[in-house]
Amino acid sequence: MPVLSDTMTAAFMTAPGAPLRLADAPVPRPGVGELLVRIEVCGLCHTDLHYWKGDYPLPRALPVVLGHEGIGRVVAVGTGVTRIEPGARVGIGFVYGTCGHCRERMSGHETHCGEVTSTGVHVNGCFAEYAVLREDWATAIPEELDAAAAAPLLCAGVAAYSAVRKAKLEPGELVAVFGAGGLGSYAIQLAKLSGARVAAVDVSAEKLAHARKLGADYGISALGDPGAEIQALGGADACFNFAPVASSWRQVLAAARARARIVLVSLPTDPLTFEASEVIEAGLRITGSADGTRLELRRIMDLARAGKIESIVETVPFADIDTAFARLANGAVQGRLVIDMR
Ligand code: ZN
Repeated sequence: MPVLSDTMTAAFMTAPGAPLRLADAPVPRPGVGELLVRIEVCGLCHTDLHYWKGDYPLPRALPVVLGHEGIGRVVAVGTGVTRIEPGARVGIGFVYGTCGHCRERMSGHETHCGEVTSTGVHVNGCFAEYAVLREDWATAIPEELDAAAAAPLLCAGVAAYSAVRKAKLEPGELVAVFGAGGLGSYAIQLAKLSGARVAAVDVSAEKLAHARKLGADYGISALGDPGAEIQALGGADACFNFAPVASSWRQVLAAARARARIVLVSLPTDPLTFEASEVIEAGLRITGSADGTRLELRRIMDLARAGKIESIVETVPFADIDTAFARLANGAVQGRLVIDMR
């Protein structure tokens, strides 16, 4: 076990849109029920980008450390920790904690707890050499999984898993996945595992080519008329929206067949609009999905361990984290960027 150092390097967000500042900071100490983790890698998520750009307000004063797809080893535990010991390999996802006793928690929908707190948002996150998390929200990471490939599963992967699960897919159904980037890539694979036929929709020909490699049956350009193309295939029984732009919403409605399930995951900054008749006459069911539960985290790690889920990642050295944010902001990323703190 390494000797615990007093200082670490962390990437601080100091102002919205300003370059992240790599600086020395005290190593946090684990509080009651918390684990201290030496971070190996942390995936860069669109949510980090939204907070960094100032799209969403942060509930605490700057500077803050973002990052919520962290993987590392426990190096110290706080009082009251009972199950996890130093040396354990764990993942740190977006949910830092929930109240633990609300109706949502008891009915298996814990991420919709009204008191949910988030890593990087309410507490400092994983773009640092060390981070803390609550023992009860630590995800065990199988030793055989590559850290960089496993990191995006903690947010992008589990968010896609939770969305696909909510659609209750049946074998042979036609599924339209709008946005074939990070989350979409996972949703395509998970929908295929459910036995569905999958149409991937994206503006990028490169992403569509990759979607086909991941098993998508059809790659459809969002620059054309994807609604008409999907209707020509019979119409989508389920649609997932991972595209971070409001313009995809009309395409989703156009692709849906009667009684389709629509699951919304991405957060465009503009509002989505529809006529009540469009939803009522077609009997559409529209569901929102955010994050994933601890059970879903376990299941996606099990799928990864069984070799059934592939992550498309590009590793970036910690020193280049700012370039990584800029590239994600420009959309110039095939899969997920993972920052390497090793
Ligand atoms: Zn995320």
